[in-house]
Amino acid sequence: MSKQGELEELMEIAKRRGFFWPSFSIYGGFSGLNDYGPLGSLLKNRVYEKWKRAFASVGGIEIDTPNLTPEVVLKASGHIDKFLDIAAECGSCKNRFKLENILSDAGYEIVPESVEEGEKLLSDHILKCPRCGARLDKVFEFHLMFKTESGSESYFLRPETAQGIFVNFKLLLNYNKGKLPLIVYQQGKGYRNEIAPRQGLIRQREFNMAEAEVFLPEEGSEVFAPSGNREAQLFDKYGKTHTMDLSQAVEKSVIKSAEHAFFMELILSFAVDVGIDETRLRFRQHRDDELAHYSSECWDLEFNMEGSWLEITGISDRGTYDLTRHMEKSGENLAYEGNQIARVIEPATGVDRVIVSILLSSMSKRDSGYNVMKLPAPMAPYRIAVLPLQKKDGLSEKAQEIFKRLRSMEPYTVYDESGTIGRRYARQDEIGTPYCITVDYETMEKNMVTIRERNSTGQIKNIDVELLFSHPDFLSNPILDQFGSQ
Ligand code: AMP
Repeated sequence: MSKQGELEELMEIAKRRGFFWPSFSIYGGFSGLNDYGPLGSLLKNRVYEKWKRAFASVGGIEIDTPNLTPEVVLKASGHIDKFLDIAAECGSCKNRFKLENILSDAGYEIVPESVEEGEKLLSDHILKCPRCGARLDKVFEFHLMFKTESGSESYFLRPETAQGIFVNFKLLLNYNKGKLPLIVYQQGKGYRNEIAPRQGLIRQREFNMAEAEVFLPEEGSEVFAPSGNREAQLFDKYGKTHTMDLSQAVEKSVIKSAEHAFFMELILSFAVDVGIDETRLRFRQHRDDELAHYSSECWDLEFNMEGSWLEITGISDRGTYDLTRHMEKSGENLAYEGNQIARVIEPATGVDRVIVSILLSSMSKRDSGYNVMKLPAPMAPYRIAVLPLQKKDGLSEKAQEIFKRLRSMEPYTVYDESGTIGRRYARQDEIGTPYCITVDYETMEKNMVTIRERNSTGQIKNIDVELLFSHPDFLSNPILDQFGSQ
């Protein structure tokens, strides 16, 4: 369950063990920028792969478009005019904050839309600086995109990957033989000039996104209806919580369309599949005043962290907004079958936040106080660790031989011979390695090893070494069945 201080504890483990850490730290660190280390990079690739498989399994296709986006595109999409925050500055310490967050911390769920509205809120309520406690006294607009230039052209670093898909609609529809539905997804970096980046991977200026644009015929699509097999907590825009499966939510009009509910169900299944604790998840519907400029209905999948809710994926009904705007501004015909405009549902996942949610869901402690990262085995950065009981008497050489053979079959295998065997088990537990193979005197005499399982610390002794290689995918080797599933 969610507990105070868990994020800080995770950030300490993440840095010490090689999951992630602040970037450029030898120069003092720069807020909102983070690196993935060797373990985090492996975990990120696994998350991306699972996300892609989820969308490919319903017919999605992938594209890859530039981060640098010409001004004209973002003018058409509305980002230049509308992708801004109303910010407040502290008169005393000069720190700047998103006004919406200050209001929310003070118990007001209001999203100010203009400087005038912000100024009125500041004069009606006493809103204090979270850093120094002085009264906030200045309101201004803060643009969220990073601008750059080349010659006479202006570009922005993309704030979302979606526009690269919308501008290609005609080519993609053609690729799909003119047919809808059409699902196109893209993964990569998104950039937002956040006023107050914080909490490591959670609010960054450069972050990892995975987005799908689902183009649907105007009259709807029977292909995408929720299975009804997954119950969810739905917190609606009126503040009411419904616990029901997603097909019921459509029947009861809690969610407007079956397609929207279908992709909510898909995202929820993905989140649980990658290892996020389902009891810490809910969907929250955006209030009308917080909807993005392109959205008519939006449900966020949120993860409970330290007692508050963190958005990890937004599933938005973008309607015909983007295609219509690009059609008007570019002069290209982006209609299908004559003059119909496709309607779009967009699941947009923040991959870094998914990674934090997986790790927080997996982080636990043994009675001894040692940390264990109980990641689902297929998500763990390393799947196997090979450990000689001791270095002497040829055990090291024997273990190296087994390690090299295993690694050529399962590349995510690691070798460790430094320190006592207990410390090495603890190290592997902390990084989530599901299985350790111990090479001991039995191996030298009888070619037998011991396998230890992370969650239970249970061991199976006397396993013939050749059995380790009997199955090309180690995680589906039947010898592991004795431990039960992870
Ligand atoms: P949005 O387009 O605002 O719905 O963003 C899509 C997803 O990206 C959100 O659900 C978040 O998980 C993630 N996200 C948005 N802003 C940031 C940020 N500054 N740092 C990290 N992740 C973010």
